[in-house]
Amino acid sequence: MGYKLLNGKDLAKRMKEEMSAEVAKLAEKGVVPGLAVIIVGNDPASRIYVNSKKRDCAEVGIKSFEYALPEDTKEEQLLELIDVLNEDENVDGILVQLPIPKHLDEQKVIRRINPSKDVDAFHPYNVGELMIGNHIFAPCTPAGIMELLKDAGLSVEGKNCVIVGRSNIVGKPMSMLMLHANATVTICHSKTQNLKDICKHADILVAAIGRAEFITKEYVKEGAIVIDVGINRTEDGGMTGDVDFDEVSKIASAITPVPGGVGPMTRAMLLKNTIKACIMHKNICLS
Ligand code: NDP
Repeated sequence: MGYKLLNGKDLAKRMKEEMSAEVAKLAEKGVVPGLAVIIVGNDPASRIYVNSKKRDCAEVGIKSFEYALPEDTKEEQLLELIDVLNEDENVDGILVQLPIPKHLDEQKVIRRINPSKDVDAFHPYNVGELMIGNHIFAPCTPAGIMELLKDAGLSVEGKNCVIVGRSNIVGKPMSMLMLHANATVTICHSKTQNLKDICKHADILVAAIGRAEFITKEYVKEGAIVIDVGINRTEDGGMTGDVDFDEVSKIASAITPVPGGVGPMTRAMLLKNTIKACIMHKNICLS
């Protein structure tokens, strides 16, 4: 059986082209969306993510402002910076690259961001709006997955969706978006019993675990749609997902690759949220 490759790289490229046109329209009105990215410390993976976010912004015409703070930054300094950015009219979105050093209280930092500039949608206000189904910003990774499914013509309505992983960034908001789209949702985690059995009943299986090639064909129903969120570094410096692609692609009807699947969609959704924030802040009608 052949599988459909859910190519996030291609879709993200198309979305970026559309967003460039939208940003150009904003420019005609004298408005440039701005994204402030705060990075604390020297985590190499975070540095790579921040660089790519800046590149993405430049590609579509969004202005990015980087604030690189030292590892030993005091919490008060970080909070003060967020206060300044909250007030800055050139800044529509504020993103604090996670994880931040352990001495800083992540929840306190997230809560300091004005919810209308919280383009990652991690602030409890936006989490609450998502829960109600009334959100303006959807968290980038789950929202990117929904776009990818929609673009491929794959409806989640009435489907058994199983999500492995219950993080605030991926698993939980993914479950909400799927629930709002009328799926029947099961969330699994490290204490779940009979994980293989539960996964095997999934029409759509989302793996957001952080363990290289954990999901083998024993977890997957014939014909299932498989979404691999995982990013795991390999010894040779490459990258692999949470799904054993070679094995699972033989029985799945559709599957995302790693790299080139969910990752580029996450990045595209951040741009989308930033443009949305700008339109909202400047009270602009683009149509
Ligand atoms: P977390 O570490 O926060 O969460 C991992 C989840 O997996 C937890 O809920 C954990 O359960 C669960 N888990 C761990 N081991 C098992 C197991 N043996 N069986 C069942 N469940 C298990 O990770 P994130 O959600 O932040 O990220 C998940 C993966 O996705 C990572 O590889 C990350 O790099 C990647 N990622 C990719 C993105 C992209 O754009 N492609 C964006 C964000 C993340 P418990 O809660 O019980 O500990």
